[in-house]
Amino acid sequence: MKFSGLKVIEQALTGHKGWKPLWRDPAPRSHYDIVIIGGGGHGLATAFYLVKVFGKANVAVLEKGWLGSGNIGRNTTIIRSNYLLPGNQPFYEFSMKLWEELEQETNFNSMVSQRGILNLFHSDAQRDAYRRRGNAMLFSGADAQMLDRDALREMVPFLNYDNARFPIKGALMQTRAGTARHDGVAWGYARGADSRGVDLVQNCEVTGMKIEAGKILGVETTRGFIGAGKVGVAVAGNSSRVMAMADKRLPIESHVLQAFVSEGLKPTIPGVITFGAGHFYVSQSNKGGLVFGGDIDGYNSYAQRGNLPVVEDVLEGGMALMPMIGRVRLLRSWGGIMDMSMDGSPMIDRTDIEGLYFNGGWCYGGFKATPASGYAFAHLLATDTPHETATAFRMDRFERGYVIDEKGVGAQPNLH
Ligand SMILES: Cc1cc2nc3c(=O)[nH]c(=O)nc-3n(C[C@H](O)[C@H](O)[C@H](O)COP(=O)(O)OP(=O)(O)OC[C@H]3O[C@@H](n4cnc5c(N)ncnc54)[C@H](O)[C@@H]3O)c2cc1C
Repeated sequence: MKFSGLKVIEQALTGHKGWKPLWRDPAPRSHYDIVIIGGGGHGLATAFYLVKVFGKANVAVLEKGWLGSGNIGRNTTIIRSNYLLPGNQPFYEFSMKLWEELEQETNFNSMVSQRGILNLFHSDAQRDAYRRRGNAMLFSGADAQMLDRDALREMVPFLNYDNARFPIKGALMQTRAGTARHDGVAWGYARGADSRGVDLVQNCEVTGMKIEAGKILGVETTRGFIGAGKVGVAVAGNSSRVMAMADKRLPIESHVLQAFVSEGLKPTIPGVITFGAGHFYVSQSNKGGLVFGGDIDGYNSYAQRGNLPVVEDVLEGGMALMPMIGRVRLLRSWGGIMDMSMDGSPMIDRTDIEGLYFNGGWCYGGFKATPASGYAFAHLLATDTPHETATAFRMDRFERGYVIDEKGVGAQPNLH
C-alpha cells in the first residue's frame, strides 16, 4: 500500500478502515541466501538496501522481539554529521545525504527534521577545537558555521551564558543536522524491505550458529534451524553475546544509556543543543516534550534500564546549561544497551569465518548512522568489498594500531 495525500483523504472519508499492516508476518523458510540477525535500524536498513540497491532476493531479518524493540526505538533521535577524523566524517556525511532522501526512498514519513544542532563551547581552547572540527566537516562537503556569543544569545536566549564555571562563549552549528522519528525510521525501512520480498521474522531469537570447516551454514533459532549462504550480525548492544556463538571475542563492552522526556511545553528549543562542559544534549519533540540524555551508566549490563545516580547527573548537566529546566516535570525515562567499542567508532567488516559478517560498536551514535550503516553493510554483504566511506571500520584496527579515536581519549568506553 502506497502512502500519499490522496490516500489519507480517501481513508479519512471512509472511516480509516482500509489501512493495511505495514509488513507481513511470515514463518521462516528453511534457507535464505542472506540472513540478517537483528531487526533494529541497522538490520532493517541493510535488508532494504540489499534488495533495493544491490538487487538481492531471498533475504531474511531475524528479530528476537518485535521490530524496533531495541535502541532504534529508544534513542534521543539526533542526526548529524559533525565529526572530525577522516575515517568517520565522510561516512557520517554520506549518512546525512541518505537521511535527506530517506522519506522519498521509503515512501514513509519518518519525520526527518533538519532543525540544526548547536555544539556549545566554553573556553578558547574548545573554540579552537570546534573550529578545526568545522573545517574537517567542510572538507567532506558538510556544512558548518561558527557562532559567537551574541549570535548564539539571539538564537537561544534561555541558556545560562554567565555560569561562573562554564560560561558559554559560542557554538559550532550544523544547520542540516536535526532529528528524525526513531521508530518511524525502523517502520519505513521495514515496510520498504517487506514490500520487496524480505522476510521480517519477529519473535525469532538466534541461539547458535552452525559453522563447519570455517564456513557458516546457518543459525539455530527459537523457531528452528535456518540455513544461510551469508549471515550479517547487526544486534547493537547484544554484539558480544551473539558473536560469542561463533567463538569471537570483540573489543566491545555493553553499557546502559538512558533517555528522558519531560512534560509537553510550548515551542522553546529550536533545534538540538549539546553542552560542551558536561554530557548533556537536548531537543524538543514535535509533541512538545524536552528530549534529553547524558552519560552512560558506567557499568557493564545487558539490561534495558538504568539507575538513579545517572538521572541526577544528567539533570545536573541540564540545570547548569539551562536552569529553567528545573521547573519542568520529568515524564518518562528508559534505557538501551550500547555496544561501546574501545575507540568509540564502529566496525563494519567480514570475519575470518566465511560468510559471517559483523556490524556493531556504534556506541551512543548509531542512530544517525542508520542509513549509511545499512547501505555500507549491504555493500559488503553483496560485493564482499567495503563501501568507500567505511573502509576504516575494520575489526583488526585495534591489533594494527589504526584506531579511530574521535575524541582522543584512548581505550575507555565511558569517555567516548
Ligand atoms: C537512550 C539512547 C539514546 C541514544 N541517542 C542517540 C542519538 O541521539 N543519536 C544517535 O545517533 N544515536 C543514539 N543512540 C544510539 C543508537 O540508538 C544505536 O547506536 C543504534 O540504534 C544501534 O543500532 P540498531 O538500531 O540496529 O540497534 P537495535 O535497535 O538495538 O537493534 C538490534 C536488534 O537486535 C536484536 N537482537 C539482539 N540479539 C538477538 C538475537 N540473538 N537474535 C535475534 N535478534 C537479536 C535486538 O532485539 C534488537 O532489536 C542512543 C541510544 C540510546 C539507548
